[in-house]
Amino acid sequence: MFYYKLLWSTHVVVFCNSAAVRQGIVDTVQKAVSDPQVKSVVICGQNGIFCGGADIKEFGKDISGPPLVPVFHAIESADKPVVAAIEGSALGGGLELALFCHYRITHSKARLGLPEVTLGLLPAAGGTQRLPRLIGVPAALDLITTGRHVTAAEALKLGFVDQVIDQNTVEAAVKFALSVVGQSLESRRISTLPCPCPDADALFEGVMQKVRQRARGAIAPVTCVQAIQAAVTLPYAQGMQREQELMATLFTSAQARALQYCFFSQRVVSRWSMPSGARWDTSKPKPVTKVAVIGLGTMGRGITVALAQAGLSVVAVETEQQQMIAGQRAVSDMLERAAQRRGVSSAVYRVRYSMKLEAVADVQLVIEAVFEDMVLKEQLFKQLSSICKADTLLCSNTSALDIDHLASQTRSPQLVVGMHFFAPAHVMKLLEVVHGPRSAPQAVATAMELGKRIGKVSVAVGNCRGFVGNRMLMPYSQEALFLVEEGASPEVVDRALEEFGFPMGFFRMSDLSGLDVGWRVRKADGLVKPGQMSRVRQGRRYCPLGDLLCEQGRFELPRGYRARQGLVSRRIDSKEVLERCLYSLINEGFRILEDGIAAGPEDIDMIYVFGYGWPRHRGGPMFYASQVGLDRVLQALEHYQQLHPDVPHLQPSRLLRKLVSSGSPPIHRWKEVIKKPHSAL
Ligand code: NAD
Repeated sequence: MFYYKLLWSTHVVVFCNSAAVRQGIVDTVQKAVSDPQVKSVVICGQNGIFCGGADIKEFGKDISGPPLVPVFHAIESADKPVVAAIEGSALGGGLELALFCHYRITHSKARLGLPEVTLGLLPAAGGTQRLPRLIGVPAALDLITTGRHVTAAEALKLGFVDQVIDQNTVEAAVKFALSVVGQSLESRRISTLPCPCPDADALFEGVMQKVRQRARGAIAPVTCVQAIQAAVTLPYAQGMQREQELMATLFTSAQARALQYCFFSQRVVSRWSMPSGARWDTSKPKPVTKVAVIGLGTMGRGITVALAQAGLSVVAVETEQQQMIAGQRAVSDMLERAAQRRGVSSAVYRVRYSMKLEAVADVQLVIEAVFEDMVLKEQLFKQLSSICKADTLLCSNTSALDIDHLASQTRSPQLVVGMHFFAPAHVMKLLEVVHGPRSAPQAVATAMELGKRIGKVSVAVGNCRGFVGNRMLMPYSQEALFLVEEGASPEVVDRALEEFGFPMGFFRMSDLSGLDVGWRVRKADGLVKPGQMSRVRQGRRYCPLGDLLCEQGRFELPRGYRARQGLVSRRIDSKEVLERCLYSLINEGFRILEDGIAAGPEDIDMIYVFGYGWPRHRGGPMFYASQVGLDRVLQALEHYQQLHPDVPHLQPSRLLRKLVSSGSPPIHRWKEVIKKPHSAL
């Protein structure tokens, strides 16, 4: 909705961008600009928000209504001052509109930015041509290629707003608009400004290289650079045309669809549901102010920092003296840095340390992060159950152990859930909230709410070995090793995965997280047989290369290993690497959906995008499968399964077959094909 009113001699146009009101905006602006009685115009938003940009639901459809850019140009060429009064946010098209105004008055709490790149697009209402003219090429490159939002104070410093105020923005803008009536507007028309850029070639070459590296195959940031380059090399009108042409290539791209899918999926996963029918909108979280973290190792430290930063009071318990000293120092250092960034004293963070478990007696929620050892965790949950109050939520950060079994050690199994963080826990955005069949909806709601409070993308998942993320990683890692057995070098495997867009291939990742992590898990599963070379374990194909590396404490060359195993090497291309690693991971995703462990494909995709470095511009593994074509994924799995009948994870899942035989419906309709979910346990 929009309306306008005559205030003294200033016209106030209230602006909101969606197809339904586009015609209205055009009429109102034209009227205000051409009415001789009106001496100046203020454009503002409704309900305290200037404009959050285009209605993203319109993307991918034909956009109806008149084009806005010619109207925006009419604003700029008006012979009376037009002032933008920015409250709340001016993002995307909203900020572009403000850049057509002659002045921008901004509330101190407002956020501004051109985030189109994060949706696979570029700011195509002049943003790429006008912002560099106003604030210089390097600053515009930074804002447009990252899409980051800035505060009003930073916008003032960069020079794209003229005043920042704390009071009523519209009133201030009206006053300002009246005060500049009659003044020359020549220097206020951005389209007439030059776009100087000394050493443009060198600058763009360097920027392009950096952006390509960071983009990991995403095309939008690179296209944004090309558009800004046009602002430097072409006259304004031609630059605007170039911006349109470049936008046209992005608008219908698969990457833009993937990024927009991620944008929506992030919201979808917050509306969680459980197989029992419990849901986000019918389960009320319990208030949590006091939390305990047990174990101050790698994970406990990050979790403590994340909680303290969100204003929670934390008790950290550690039993090893040395770990306590090191942990306490690490947490204090991280909080000190966080306080410096926020410009506050680190005294605002409330963390208490103790070597006694009794210190957790009065908390409302406990997060256990001790060694991955079931016997130790069993004992701890028994103790916690008797020390804590009857309604305290007991959560485990286990990577793969059975949450139900832990729950059975306590007097209130309905109050036990998994809170699976990712390392480093104060940085990584993902949190898997694991519920068993006995978990109370309120316990899940409370963990999900806490996750949200500490800035995580929280995804509710069912209980099974490895939950969603690590369970799908299993076939992926096995295929990476099998490929090396068959002749690929670790570099070939990693290169294919990194070119696909992962920040690190499987082998580089394993080196970084420590080869012994997986080794310990395989040992616990009874798969490791020291000194043995057998390539069949528990009735299926097995690659002992990783175990040998750990046992011998040195890098065993795959070539020597292959010779001893009598394996003949063959050339393996990146297509096979990707198909075998990714399709086997995706296949496990279909099994997870079939088992009701994840509520929908969006949940799996967000877990992979936020926790496992899956490139966002490919939308997550399940979205990727839908883009590749489910029939192609199925055919490839069938092909590899024939070649490797001893590898069960290559056996296409029932759900994948069912979806293909139902005509491969679009991803948002998969749920209709998925059978009534049931627990995998
Ligand atoms: P870690 O070895 O770094 O730390 C474990 C800490 O727990 C140690 O400091 C140890 O002294 C302490 N501890 C042991 N028993 C204790 C007790 N009874 N009371 C108090 N403290 C005790 O381990 P980590 O890597 O932080 O992993 C912790 C948990 O998080 C494991 O269950 C692991 O599977 C899980 N996890 C780890 C990662 C990761 O990347 N490291 C990621 C996700 C989840």
